[in-house]
Amino acid sequence: MDMKIGVIKGDGIGPEIVDEAMKVLDRIAEVYGHSITYTRLLMGGESIDVNGVPLTDETLEQAKESDAVLMGSIGGDAKTSPWYRLEPSKRPEAGLLSLRKGLNLFANLRPAVLYTDLKEACPLREEIADKGFDMVIMRELTGGLYFGDRSTEVIDGVTVAKDELVYSDTEIRRIAKRGFDIAMKRRKKVTSVDKANVLDSSRLWRKVVEEVAEEYPDVTLEHMLVDNCAMQLVKDPTQFDVILTENMFGDILSDEASMVTGSIGMLASASLNETKFGLYEPSGGSAPDIAGQGIANPIATILSAAMMLRYSFDLDREAQAIEDAVGDVLKDGYRTADIMSGGMKQIGTKEMGERICAYIK
Ligand code: NAD
Repeated sequence: MDMKIGVIKGDGIGPEIVDEAMKVLDRIAEVYGHSITYTRLLMGGESIDVNGVPLTDETLEQAKESDAVLMGSIGGDAKTSPWYRLEPSKRPEAGLLSLRKGLNLFANLRPAVLYTDLKEACPLREEIADKGFDMVIMRELTGGLYFGDRSTEVIDGVTVAKDELVYSDTEIRRIAKRGFDIAMKRRKKVTSVDKANVLDSSRLWRKVVEEVAEEYPDVTLEHMLVDNCAMQLVKDPTQFDVILTENMFGDILSDEASMVTGSIGMLASASLNETKFGLYEPSGGSAPDIAGQGIANPIATILSAAMMLRYSFDLDREAQAIEDAVGDVLKDGYRTADIMSGGMKQIGTKEMGERICAYIK
């Protein structure tokens, strides 16, 4: 297969971790006979330095012409970086928001995987952590409470603040379809999370999700109220495969799910639209505190590249090969500083990338 991949290395640790993910992709291409063309795209702080703005129209067009985009992370230290003396619309993060909007990325996918070899990092009780878990959270990203009308006004001497939570059936249907598509590539279970005992928007959510489920007879659908889901994530995370939910619930639950895995350096993510296109990036930021030291953990970015192969290119076997290689490297005791524990062998960013490549056979 010929793959056209846009690459945003970004700021801080971005270039270090993306270089390792590109090495792993090149190794996959070599072993499985694919060809990859990379197009370097500037976004965030590095684009401000070169172009004066965090995202140019040309870069957005180039991103649209790619099959998928792999990204490191953008941004700097808000206290010391000159980028943060610019007005908010010119800062690095504004580039990311414009990119997501310009590419119509309405679905955010965040896996939360606990490798049994990293279970010491898991804050849950031993008998829960021992079982490991592997779920993804599919969060709607462009609707709901964060995008509704809001106002604060004084009515009869009382200050009243209001935020509107709006969802249309079309918005729900398109994210639900993406959620079921993802489940078809996994253990074929969707847990749709809502607050249908209280909210109209959740009752519509549930109705539309049930309609979509009819198109996917192989997938088991269950509904769960968001408050129960928050409890179940720490009580028995093994029960989840795909959690499908709206914007605000997903915001909170995905952070909770990632916390129980223990390390930010392990967390991949993808933002998807209605096509096969996706933007793949680690969940963490640009970590200016450790940038340039060669100690950042590249695994989240490498696992994001695996997600790219699976979801944008349907290369499930190749994605699995990367995930297995990551598991094997951890099993053999290699750790970057952030996931280091007693008796393990500490290695840097480059060596972690190289070891993962070497385990891909
Ligand atoms: P951060 O995620 O960059 O760092 C938080 C902590 O996690 C730091 O101690 C850092 O060293 C550590 N960390 C993060 N990734 C790591 C990795 N791969 N390996 C080892 N340790 C890692 O969050 P922050 O400090 O709040 O933000 C720093 C900058 O990143 C800010 O400018 C912020 O706006 C930006 N940011 C960007 C994105 C993005 O590009 N999508 C996301 C979040 C934050």
